Amino acid sequence: MGVTLRTFVGGELETNAYLVVDDATGEAILIDAPDGITEDVVATAREEGWTITRIVLTHAHWDHIVDAAALKAATGVPLLAHPLTAERLASPDAFAGGYVPAKIAPVTPDGFLNDGDNVTVGSYTFAVMHLPGHDPAHIVLINEPERLLFGGDVVFPGGHGNTAIPGADQAVMNQSLRRLAALPPDLVVYPGHGEPTTLGAEAGWLRSA
Ligand SMILES: [Zn+2]
Repeated sequence: MGVTLRTFVGGELETNAYLVVDDATGEAILIDAPDGITEDVVATAREEGWTITRIVLTHAHWDHIVDAAALKAATGVPLLAHPLTAERLASPDAFAGGYVPAKIAPVTPDGFLNDGDNVTVGSYTFAVMHLPGHDPAHIVLINEPERLLFGGDVVFPGGHGNTAIPGADQAVMNQSLRRLAALPPDLVVYPGHGEPTTLGAEAGWLRSA
C-alpha cells in the first residue's frame, strides 16, 4: 500500500498530467489538464476502480488547462487552483498568445489553494507551496514522507521554467527556487514536461539562484 502515480501526456507541448492515487482507498486527484487526456483519464480511473475526487491546476498556462472544463464535466469533481488563475481561466484565449492550438473552454475554479494549504488524497496530505516566477499563480504540491513533489513548470531536469514570457519574473523565480533548495534533496520532482528528477540532482544550479 502506498501511492500510485499514472502519467498522462497531452497536447503539442507534451504537457504532463498526473493521477495520484491512495492505494488503500482508491481515492485519486488529477494534477493538471493538458489537451486530449480526458477520455484516457476517465477510462483509466474506471478500469482501475479509482475515484477521482479533485482536479488541481499547478498554473493556468494554456497547455496545462485545455482539458480543464472537459475533465470537470466528465468527473463532476471540484477544480482547485491558486486565486490568481481565475481571470485567465475565465477567458483563456485572451491570455494564450499566438500559440493556442484550439479554442479553450473557460472554467470556474470551485476553490482556491494558497501557500500553506493542504490537499488530501485518501490518508496522504500534500502541502501547497506558492512558487511564482514562471507564472504569478504557480503552485506545487509536496508530500515529504512519500518524497513527492508535483512541480508544474517551476523545476525541470537541468533548469527552471521560462521567465521570458508575459507575467514571468526572474527575481521572483529566484526566490521560489531558494525555497525549493531548502527542501529535502531526495524529493522526487514530477515536472509539467519531461522526465522526473530529484531536488538533489538539481541542487547545483538551484543553490546558485
Ligand atoms: Zn507554464
